[in-house]
Amino acid sequence: MPEKMNAVLITDQYKTEVASIEKPHPGKNEVLVKVKATALCTWEQRVFVGEKKVPLPLVGGHETIGQIAGLGEGLDPDEYPIGQDVALRVIKQCNSCYYCRKGMPNLCDELSSFRLNGPDVYGMGGLGEYISIDRSSVWKYTRPVSLQDQVLTEPLACVLNSISNASIEPGDDVLIIGGGVMGLLHVMVAKLRGAYTILSEPNPERRKWAQDLGCHLTLDPTAVDLQAEIAHLTEGRGVNTVINTTAIPAVAEQALGLLAKGGVFVMYSSQHPDAPIKMSPNWVHNTEVVITGAVNPSTSSFDQAVRMINKGIIRPGRFVTAEFNYKDCQQAFEAAIDPKNYRVMITF
Ligand SMILES: [Zn+2]
Ligand SMILES: [Zn+2]
Repeated sequence: MPEKMNAVLITDQYKTEVASIEKPHPGKNEVLVKVKATALCTWEQRVFVGEKKVPLPLVGGHETIGQIAGLGEGLDPDEYPIGQDVALRVIKQCNSCYYCRKGMPNLCDELSSFRLNGPDVYGMGGLGEYISIDRSSVWKYTRPVSLQDQVLTEPLACVLNSISNASIEPGDDVLIIGGGVMGLLHVMVAKLRGAYTILSEPNPERRKWAQDLGCHLTLDPTAVDLQAEIAHLTEGRGVNTVINTTAIPAVAEQALGLLAKGGVFVMYSSQHPDAPIKMSPNWVHNTEVVITGAVNPSTSSFDQAVRMINKGIIRPGRFVTAEFNYKDCQQAFEAAIDPKNYRVMITF
């Protein structure tokens, strides 16, 4: 009889349940990890509300941390001690496709082929009691770091990948659109890069959070003319970087007009609906602006996130605003889609 473990399944629209599924067994070069906590990303929330269609039931969860509980063949127990705190980069990386070999594993061709957790259940697996994963996806936390800080490793890694694409230089003007957890993480990291940070966010509580984090300027786009404010602030040039963390195409279209010559626009959030936006090809030609995206953490940005959190350079754990035991998964998912929460964490 194979061993069993509990996992949180999304079974239908707005429905989750705890089920007993097969416990993974570590294969060659794999580390068996007892999951301690997983944060609920927007991706899982979109599956929960039925916006994102994937095979159900699904064991979601990719913002996952835990402790080493067992080792597959070929791993040295001195290097991977039982009980060691670890963060996991659970998204698939085949290491063989064109993009993986070109050093862009966040764009891996097999990215959306989910990890298999037991015979009948698909998913990235972070919402189960155990996960078995190749050593290349395991990062150690060597210092005492709170669960809340650790569990935001993956979101921070996504933001570090975005900031890397944004090519920010000290003294640059960086406009971040949207003050959710991702917008605020961008504020924190852009500040560490030496940028002058401007946040556009209609919600006053979120602007207050940004101010508490030291955001240089917060603007309410429903109360001021963003274009005029940015022009005034930058002697008419526009900002060097726009990072769009909101999902509304009209916002993206308007924000293109806020960019200085040679600026970089990062489409951080996916857009819903994915409606086309207007852009002048001659404007791109004449200004050398760069329009790019940022999706998933790269291997190096994940590495940077762990090192920054491990050394206390950044403490993102404050964004975990609610915590639930996995047995209360339904409440946890309902809390996660409540806009007053930043990140909801499920513990095991
Ligand atoms: Zn995520
Ligand atoms: Zn690949």
